[in-house]
Amino acid sequence: MSIPVTLIPGDGIGPEITDATVRILERAGVDIAWDRQLAGMAAVAAHGDPIPAATLDSIARTRVALKGPLETPVGGGYRSVNVALRMRFDLYANVRPAYTIRPGGRFEHVDIVLVRENTEGLYSGVEHYIKIGNDDHAAAESAAIITRAGSERVIRFAFDYAVKHGRKKLTLVHKANILKLSQGLFLETGRRIAKEYAGRVAFEERIIDAMAMQLILKPEAFDMIVTTNMFGDILSDEIAGLVGGLGLAPGANIGEGASIFEAVHGTAPDIAGQGIANPGALILAACMMLEHLGHEACARRIRHALEAVVREGKTVTRDLGGTATTHELADAVIARLG
Ligand code: NAD
Repeated sequence: MSIPVTLIPGDGIGPEITDATVRILERAGVDIAWDRQLAGMAAVAAHGDPIPAATLDSIARTRVALKGPLETPVGGGYRSVNVALRMRFDLYANVRPAYTIRPGGRFEHVDIVLVRENTEGLYSGVEHYIKIGNDDHAAAESAAIITRAGSERVIRFAFDYAVKHGRKKLTLVHKANILKLSQGLFLETGRRIAKEYAGRVAFEERIIDAMAMQLILKPEAFDMIVTTNMFGDILSDEIAGLVGGLGLAPGANIGEGASIFEAVHGTAPDIAGQGIANPGALILAACMMLEHLGHEACARRIRHALEAVVREGKTVTRDLGGTATTHELADAVIARLG
């Protein structure tokens, strides 16, 4: 029985890295029935709609999607399709693991899984301009909405993930010293839930600004992190930087009814269409997807093959200090699959 999965190639470098990833999965022998769908600028060009109904229907049916990056206009234009997909399918937990693959970099022994709350906080989409005199845009207000229920489910998810994956410590990151109500509610919820996991997962708290610094000074001191939406967005890019950049940073958006797997990086417009993008992050996202689907052994095989190629350093893309193309890197991974 083949597994139905929605495939959204995406914009910019998206089609190049999805082609490479699909090729690797096929050669690894996973029987997936890809349902190719459009979203983002590609969907605007084809259907005049950044999230066509057919794409939403497909995800609702398959409940699993592998997605390339999607372009979001800065400032005006349509609302982020990524944010809309998270809201639509209530993908409340954004899991972003990062670990050192190649020794000898600036930071060694990094192995951190960040869980970001994915549907609330400053990304709730509640914002408006305030008119003063003749100026329609004299001020702007964005609401950071934090709920007890939303905090509880993502913090519980992080603790359960720690137990399942043998992680020892969860650090809750907040700014409750200033945002006493919204961030305070997240922290208070975390402290309460931590008691249920006492003896199984250690719990600690950090203020966001101190955390940003400590991640640079001592990244090996952290195991798992749980935090609110915007802090998680920013910290996960910082952590990706610790392990060599966005080219190897995958992410999973998990909900009860559907899950979407993607690279943390964007459409990389500066290198799109040149065939030189690093497909590593999407390959690792596909491995997370295979684990989610219960194909752990296959995920391990692909991950080990990619790690070997990156560690060897001969057939890697420019962002990793090499000269290989996207397809050459994918071929090297396939050759290592054995
Ligand atoms: P970006 O991640 O696209 O690029 C940042 C830098 O990293 C660029 O120099 C780029 O060349 C490089 N880079 C990124 N991925 C790479 C890869 N796989 N291989 C080699 N180099 C890589 O960030 P940006 O420029 O801020 O955003 C561009 C667009 O992507 C925007 O429209 C943004 O909204 C969108 N975006 C989408 C997602 C998503 O779909 N999940 C995430 C972030 C940004």
